[in-house]
Amino acid sequence: MHAIIAVREVIAIALLLLFSINNEGVESTKNPRAIEGSHSVLASKFDLNSMRFAGSPATQARYLLRKVYFKGVLGDSLTILPQFLDSLMLDILPVITRDELRRYIAEEKIDSMHIGGDISRPLSQTKSGIVAGYFIIHDASNLMNPPYKSFSSLVNSTKWYHNQIWRQKNFKWAHAFINRFGQSITCNDFEKPVYATKFEKSDNNPDIGDTCVGNFIHVENIQPRRSSRKRRPYNDDIAISPGFTDKQYERLALLYLTASTRKEGWLIPSFHAIIDEGIKGAHHDPQNFELTKWVMVMQKLYHQIKM
Ligand SMILES: [Zn+2]
Repeated sequence: MHAIIAVREVIAIALLLLFSINNEGVESTKNPRAIEGSHSVLASKFDLNSMRFAGSPATQARYLLRKVYFKGVLGDSLTILPQFLDSLMLDILPVITRDELRRYIAEEKIDSMHIGGDISRPLSQTKSGIVAGYFIIHDASNLMNPPYKSFSSLVNSTKWYHNQIWRQKNFKWAHAFINRFGQSITCNDFEKPVYATKFEKSDNNPDIGDTCVGNFIHVENIQPRRSSRKRRPYNDDIAISPGFTDKQYERLALLYLTASTRKEGWLIPSFHAIIDEGIKGAHHDPQNFELTKWVMVMQKLYHQIKM
């Protein structure tokens, strides 16, 4: 009898141990101790009804486009935005119309299916029916093989695996990819709610999480990374500099203008790293992004399309 109880007890203790191990591994983000010290900095600035961060669009952009430094250290809020972007955030300039955009892409022989999908269609929405308000800029942090190898001209050739843009066609966690030649591919139509940040995951950001999926348009940019020898195992700490090619900035500008056309209003651009600030395991992209350069390219493109 005693022996049977003992066996039962042993089994019970073993099961308890097993479940507690599982809880650590699978459900660890629901454990209050695990959440401690890993809290979204932006959560308290986010309004769940409007699905917008606090402040005017210009104020938000100055915050959301802070410089992302090595290992995800974030710079201060910008004191001023590049002038053209400021005028968009202040609604001084109108968005490009669908007809203007159709004419431009026909002239340039750009397939709308490569720039977010059918431009007649609207943008994604949250479950509560709010149209996407943010355009999130990512770099795809493509690790070199082998990881300690220096960057070579290979990364700007079609031989480099990651520049073969068709390979991203079925990627689930972005709307579009842009390679080093400025070629883009749509992996999910801009109309489809897609998550690509920890901010949009309830496990990582319990107060908001997946209620805000659909509020963000996510664009990935191919960028080679290599590993720092200071940290093992392999890591993607070191980004190429300059971070992006001119063609990449140009296509990224077109995708931003296109998303804004489909919204019929200006989206607020943001860097991924800012959205996830404070959340454990936050990503540190995009690295080496030249905001002034991107906005200058966008200004030129805007006037070219509006002509
Ligand atoms: Zn990212």
